[in-house]
Amino acid sequence: MNFMKERTVTMNRECILEQAKQHDSFYLYEEAIIRKNTEQLKTDFPGVTFLYSVKCNPYPEVLRCVLNQGFGVDAASLAECVMGQKAGLGKDMVIFSAPGKTMADIRGGLGISTLVADSAAEVERIQEAAAEQGIVAEIGLRVNPDFTYTADTGVASKFGIDEQLIYDSMKSWKKLPNIRIVGLHAHLKSQELSAETLKGYYRNMFRLSVSMREAFGTLKFVNLGSGMGIPFCETDKPFDTTALGAETQRLMAEFQEKLPETRFYIETGRYAVGTAGTYVAKVVDKKVTHGKNFVLLSATLNGFARPSMVAMLEHFMGNGPIAAWEPIYTGDHSFQMIPLVETAERETVTVTGNLCTGTDLVLSDADMPKMEVGDTVVFPNAGSYAAVISPMQFASQPKPAQLFLRADGTVVNTDF
Ligand SMILES: *Cc1c(COP(=O)(O)O)cnc(C)c1O
Repeated sequence: MNFMKERTVTMNRECILEQAKQHDSFYLYEEAIIRKNTEQLKTDFPGVTFLYSVKCNPYPEVLRCVLNQGFGVDAASLAECVMGQKAGLGKDMVIFSAPGKTMADIRGGLGISTLVADSAAEVERIQEAAAEQGIVAEIGLRVNPDFTYTADTGVASKFGIDEQLIYDSMKSWKKLPNIRIVGLHAHLKSQELSAETLKGYYRNMFRLSVSMREAFGTLKFVNLGSGMGIPFCETDKPFDTTALGAETQRLMAEFQEKLPETRFYIETGRYAVGTAGTYVAKVVDKKVTHGKNFVLLSATLNGFARPSMVAMLEHFMGNGPIAAWEPIYTGDHSFQMIPLVETAERETVTVTGNLCTGTDLVLSDADMPKMEVGDTVVFPNAGSYAAVISPMQFASQPKPAQLFLRADGTVVNTDF
């Protein structure tokens, strides 16, 4: 496969080459791009509160930048709730929705976040923890609805509580003295590129919200979840946030009377920061073995795992479409490798990392610009689900640096 012909990418080439003099492997996150992405969302979705899905990239400067844009926190763990609290956010701006919360998670989350129960048993556990603390907590429920993005029937899932079970249980849940169920959350799928698909899903969610409001007695918030994807290759069309924003406005107006007190949240991790990150590695060795050219890069699997996931699946399944398995596998064209070299010469090479395993494969027998030891190679779209899913402890190799390019041109290197 050759990834060179794919879509042009935004990144600060000059800054990357400068930093590559000091670091063999690093991430560069760009404030200007995060601001642009988040501004786009705020413009297209007036009246909606955005939550940043911290799990995609909790790097402190990235988090600060997104929160400075007025985003709240979509917390997937107690630690992420604490990040929101430390940033000064109130409970209404830290929504803690995760499956399988422990009692420690619930006890810790109660004071600093809005908890979203992920199962019927968890509703009872939250009641127990709230009673211990002598408080009445307003909470939400994560629903596993009777629809998907593309079908009018539901599917079994480890996430959420079946619609019917909520209707059947509300009578007894309303009697629980230390909780009040006031909100609804759903999140079905990430990396969707069709605004039409998400429009249909939002329409279903608004309809569901009306019947949930009847069941709850009130509906203070609806968290529509995530879904907006980013393009990874030429055939991926950028997500049309303007179209989805317009439909959201229309729905909010249409349902204003039926959902008068409801605040709407939308979550996103990757749309805010995915395109703002670049992974950078250096060529550390070259060899010819049994007639094959090998180029070895610094920290691939253990710095940026995405190419190894693609290589592993191709190793077993051959070339061809394989369904996404987000966030660790987006598709066979879900990464690009771009050597920052001036030469017009080309070479067929197999590109790997420098770990003591053959599984840190990046590309096999690819036609590439000729690379030499010391050259810099970049992987764009590395702002989300990149550093966080890479096994950086492998072989006790140095961890890639994570750098933040401020809009004013300064570079911050926070040890993380
Ligand atoms: C991971 C996650 C998200 C973020 O998905 P993106 O594709 O990064 O926007 C949103 N909501 C929930 C509940 C999640 O688990």
